[in-house]
Amino acid sequence: MPLRRFLAVLASLLVGAATLVAVPTQAMAAPNFKAPFPCGQRWTYSHHDGEVRRALDFIRSDGGTTNGTPVLASAAGTAHRFAQPSGAGNYIAVEHGGGWKTYYFHLSSYSVANGAQVSQGQQIGVTGSTGNTTGPHIHYEQLLNGVGQNIVINGSGLAYPGSYNQYYLTSDNGCGGGGGTNFMTWGSGINVRSDARLNASVVTTLAGPTSVWVLCQKQGDTVTAEGYTNNWWSKLRDQGGFITNIYIDHPAAQLPGVPLC
Ligand SMILES: [Zn+2]
Repeated sequence: MPLRRFLAVLASLLVGAATLVAVPTQAMAAPNFKAPFPCGQRWTYSHHDGEVRRALDFIRSDGGTTNGTPVLASAAGTAHRFAQPSGAGNYIAVEHGGGWKTYYFHLSSYSVANGAQVSQGQQIGVTGSTGNTTGPHIHYEQLLNGVGQNIVINGSGLAYPGSYNQYYLTSDNGCGGGGGTNFMTWGSGINVRSDARLNASVVTTLAGPTSVWVLCQKQGDTVTAEGYTNNWWSKLRDQGGFITNIYIDHPAAQLPGVPLC
């Protein structure tokens, strides 16, 4: 070809090459992923030999029951339902944009419609043991453009231990801005329960007076103790359950400035 034409083609190729080089530098930052289980709950996690990609399996380690616990979206996105009876069981994939996706396997049930827009901290399913699993757990993954990534929660990479009870994660997902209202408790051996009922499971026990963050309060079973009677209960942010307001160190039965659950 004539030299002038050749130079024009060469120039266009160089422009094209420059464009191609520029694209990968514009990769989207990852969302600020949060734990896939409710605010205040403490779970332990592991990565076993036969695991797909860079998954971690989570089970509860705060005295609460793994099976039946809500599974929460790690970040906002679009949720899609899937079922793979021989493997992942009932599972949800949330597309977060920028090529980022999270997986939640082995659900006992789904909590959102297929294609639903979900917010961070929204319940998307219920923990179970559908598919190929030895017991109830959340199998959780973070993927970028279909490739499993090392899992990062609140900006920190998690460990990949080969068994449970070596590493733990306490959720701040769905805590509602992370705040709550600070109170002191009094008394000893105070049970924190999974709901505002005396027959609800005990998730942990407050050994003695301690500082707590109350997220919200609601009326439940009437409790009579220490000369008081009260049916208001407080949801504690970091313990992931309710205590009767009798043991919140404040004279009012219903705490001022604390929203209803
Ligand atoms: Zn797994």
